[in-house]
Amino acid sequence: MPLSAASAPLPVLILGGTTEASGLCRLLEHEAIFAPTLSLAGVTKNPHLPNIAVRIGGFGGVEGLKNWLRQHAVQAVIDATHPFAATMSQHAAKACADLELPLLRLERRAWLPTAEDQWHSVPSLTAAASLLADPAGYGQRPLRVFLTTGRKEVAPFCAAPQHTYLLRSIDAPDPTSLPPHTTCLSARGPFDYAAELAAMQAHHIDILVTKNSGGTATFPKLEAARTLHCPVIMVERPPHPAYPRVDTPEEAMAWLQTHQTASTLRDV
Ligand code: NAP
Repeated sequence: MPLSAASAPLPVLILGGTTEASGLCRLLEHEAIFAPTLSLAGVTKNPHLPNIAVRIGGFGGVEGLKNWLRQHAVQAVIDATHPFAATMSQHAAKACADLELPLLRLERRAWLPTAEDQWHSVPSLTAAASLLADPAGYGQRPLRVFLTTGRKEVAPFCAAPQHTYLLRSIDAPDPTSLPPHTTCLSARGPFDYAAELAAMQAHHIDILVTKNSGGTATFPKLEAARTLHCPVIMVERPPHPAYPRVDTPEEAMAWLQTHQTASTLRDV
């Protein structure tokens, strides 16, 4: 059945902070059948904002989120938060289950190593820092470490102060959280292969530490590490609640259209 142009736009909430959320918002800018709101945590100082309604800041836990969803008569939620933003996903799962709202996870696929890569997969940043501190392993001699794990997640590496760190983040980190020998580089992706290779060579990087964020915007550092035979400490994703999941904004859009149709049929 064709979508009813006469029915009121369907209020939907997008939990964002990712390239995929921005991509979905761009698709929604041209869809009059939805009344979307993008929600951001407010951690990035100058976020790129889409041309749809935006709210910024936490909801105040599960109850705060439920209140917001009720007040705005939201009919569907897309959780497009970052693969490492585990708390928000848990809150979305609980709130949507309690309110019986459809919930979709929009999440890019994780990166996988090739035979040429030297990855050490670890479950957490603390485990990554322990590998670097290990006197029988990477802690044996001072290394030049390229840290791309985010400005708020540097403190664990104070446990391995023998190394020199190059920390790349969008916004500047809190200087009190840094290991002693740290150089900060402020940059926002996407990054290209040639620039990544040049940066890693210029800083004589011995080892790369990254979270398994997936996607194309920050993948070239892994290709550069492969070229330079540079080992990678890969922090794997935290577990997420099980609910329907898609990889791309286009698939999320198709899911929303299905729910819009169902909602229109209910209202007839
Ligand atoms: P988190 O641990 O899952 O969330 C912490 C708290 O921040 C949540 O309980 C919630 O506060 C608030 N929050 C998170 N995402 C929100 C959103 N989209 N809208 C409104 N409130 C939100 O998340 P995080 O790791 O601190 O990341 C914060 C944000 O940055 C996320 O939106 C994520 O998509 C983005 N991000 C994270 C990473 C990363 O590596 N973690 C990387 C890139 C982007 P209340 O409980 O008060 O609602």
